[in-house]
Amino acid sequence: MKSLGLASPGESLSVLCLGAHSDDIEIGAGGTIMALIEAGVRVDVTWCVVSANGPRKEEAEASAAAFCAGASRLAIEIGSFKDSYFPYQAADIKTWLAGIGKSIASPDVIFTHRDEDAHQDHRVISELTWNLFRDNLILEYEIPKWDGDLGRPNSYMALPEPVMERKVELLLKHFGTQRSKDWFDAETFRGLARLRGMECRAPDRFAEGFFVRKLRLG
Ligand SMILES: [Zn+2]
Repeated sequence: MKSLGLASPGESLSVLCLGAHSDDIEIGAGGTIMALIEAGVRVDVTWCVVSANGPRKEEAEASAAAFCAGASRLAIEIGSFKDSYFPYQAADIKTWLAGIGKSIASPDVIFTHRDEDAHQDHRVISELTWNLFRDNLILEYEIPKWDGDLGRPNSYMALPEPVMERKVELLLKHFGTQRSKDWFDAETFRGLARLRGMECRAPDRFAEGFFVRKLRLG
């Protein structure tokens, strides 16, 4: 399958990553960020986690630094909104995200949650992304979970095998608080990526899937 590519080696790419909780960006788009850096793209990352309190804040910061190792720039923004209550805090979250949006140059690509995600916090972030950023390519990532809400992605980022291995290794290393969730394991992450890799015929068999609502071709 011919690849359009987000950026070529040596080119710069500014990326805004939005995640409700401290492991979301890593699960949904962490491999893509690492694959871009690995390919020699100069990736400028603003990594924004809306709710990470206590030990989850430290996890979020350490994990973002690890996933973005080699990036040309990394800025981490961590919010302290209450987990699972985003629909009731949406106005404050919108103000907070708008402030971050104003403080950075317009990103080339935004990674965010998808609108059909079953988690209410994820849906709020997806909706606010489209409210606040109207001139950017938005790629919505997917999060496997109990709800069984996975869909049918329409774009993919193929992951080299070492990147896939590192993604799983970093997820298991950095998110100790998630070990009580019985779905949070290497087989879930590798299995989903293998299916997405099969769908897009990824050279190294693994991929992350994304949902694109609109895309300008030229
Ligand atoms: Zn989440």
